[in-house]
Amino acid sequence: MTTAVVVGGGIAGCAAALALGDLGYSVTVVELDPGGPPADPASAWRAWTRPHVPQSGHAHAFTTLGVRTLAEHAPQVLDALHAAGAERLALDHIAPRRAGEVAWEDAEFPVLACRRPVFEAVLHQEAAGRPGVSFRLGEAVEGIRLAGDGTAHRRVSGVRLRGGEVLPADLVVDAGGRGASSGRWAAAEGAEPGPAPDETARSRISGYVRFYRLHGAHRPTPLNRGNATGAVRDGYAAFLHPADNGTFSVSYGVLPDDRSLRALRGEAAFQAAAEADPLFEKWAVPSAAEPISTVRVMAFADNVLRGAAVTPGQHHVHGLFRVGDAACVTNPLYGRGVSLALAHAFRLAGVLRRYPEAGDEQSAQAATAADTLFRPWYDHAVRTDAERLAWWNETVHGLPSPAREPGGPTTSEIGAAAARDPEVFAHVARTQMTLPPDSAAPGPRELADRVARACADTAPAPPPGPAREQLHKILQAAR
Ligand SMILES: Cc1cc2nc3c(=O)[nH]c(=O)nc-3n(C[C@H](O)[C@H](O)[C@H](O)COP(=O)(O)OP(=O)(O)OC[C@H]3O[C@@H](n4cnc5c(N)ncnc54)[C@H](O)[C@@H]3O)c2cc1C
Repeated sequence: MTTAVVVGGGIAGCAAALALGDLGYSVTVVELDPGGPPADPASAWRAWTRPHVPQSGHAHAFTTLGVRTLAEHAPQVLDALHAAGAERLALDHIAPRRAGEVAWEDAEFPVLACRRPVFEAVLHQEAAGRPGVSFRLGEAVEGIRLAGDGTAHRRVSGVRLRGGEVLPADLVVDAGGRGASSGRWAAAEGAEPGPAPDETARSRISGYVRFYRLHGAHRPTPLNRGNATGAVRDGYAAFLHPADNGTFSVSYGVLPDDRSLRALRGEAAFQAAAEADPLFEKWAVPSAAEPISTVRVMAFADNVLRGAAVTPGQHHVHGLFRVGDAACVTNPLYGRGVSLALAHAFRLAGVLRRYPEAGDEQSAQAATAADTLFRPWYDHAVRTDAERLAWWNETVHGLPSPAREPGGPTTSEIGAAAARDPEVFAHVARTQMTLPPDSAAPGPRELADRVARACADTAPAPPPGPAREQLHKILQAAR
């Protein structure tokens, strides 16, 4: 039986444990945080602390790629999520109709509404319940062990825990998140680092979030984005995400050096901002909901694509694979990390099923699978961040906007056209839901033409809600 150690029991680690357990491997998941989730996942929000996963208490959207991945490979996880109170949402009510069409295909874009700790608790329990999978909680992996001599193409033989214990393994999955250390551990064992560099791009966002619980059973207003309500405005983003069991989050994303919006960290100021926003005013008010958290603040991670994870030929250690954020991080604003981590874990398992022997072929296939999955979303995040940062830096700091590439429509023009043109809508929805373009999708030229036609009569309206200057005044008045 193949023995695997998974470093980290977060989303990617639990998904990898599920996928490898299904292959018949004997899997040990080593997780830094002590204490697993409570028996009742719905109580994970207050009963499960994750000191090494600070984003656990922040807003999470769960896009269609993740839902489809679970439906295909682990449908019992979806059932357990629904039993724990997660809600299934769809984008049909915001789709413009194609000519002659009476209803949008509801099943096309299933999404989930859930708080992250509840989602992760369910995933953890499903993984822990798999035959052959065990967890060691409250323990840290501090190194790997390699078999063979020399510097190149050595094979992993185990991991070393804090305290010195060695767990033998035929395969090691590094699911240690964005700070994953397996590259450093391999180098410490004398393995040659591959020449492919990591690609990185700043996301430059600080996030402020607060969670609420609705008093009633119904959502006060429809969701203008299908799975969320929100807008990206002239210097900040504001979003409301429904979640499980009548809960929801309100979050703001701002430039980290925008001092005038830092007052959002105060509860009174945050509340005043939420109540003054036409998108949230029927939700985040005492008559509709009560707060269930303080205001939480976190700097969003930068975009990173790890060369060692996505470049065939860079795996100088056979049998060692990075999964999830350990391979690629995209700006959390786009809400893709969980879906990508789930999809990556099951795709890696697919490679291991087809190429069971550790070696060049297995490593190259795993890198190609990772590159195919991550690169389009890494590139999209880098492009969209550059466009947003140019806009925000202009309004917040008065910096001149760099000249735009001629030809292509902007993200806000595409968004405006999506409300009018069903094909543009499908393009936007697929992108937001982490799905690659399908064969019927318009190419770049047709998309540009459609956007131009849809916006020909009227220029895109500015997103509803207070402009940054107004938000600043609201915050000042509430302090
Ligand atoms: C503010 C914020 C908001 C986000 N919002 C969204 C969203 O809306 N939708 C979405 O899809 N994604 C979102 N993301 C991204 C998402 O949270 C990540 O992509 C996801 O958590 C990646 O899962 P992971 O398992 O790879 O890493 P993590 O969840 O970070 O898990 C890594 C695990 O490894 C453990 N670990 C690390 N090192 C060791 C070690 N040496 N030994 C043992 N254990 C170790 C850690 O304790 C942790 O449990 C957001 C991220 C942030 C920061």
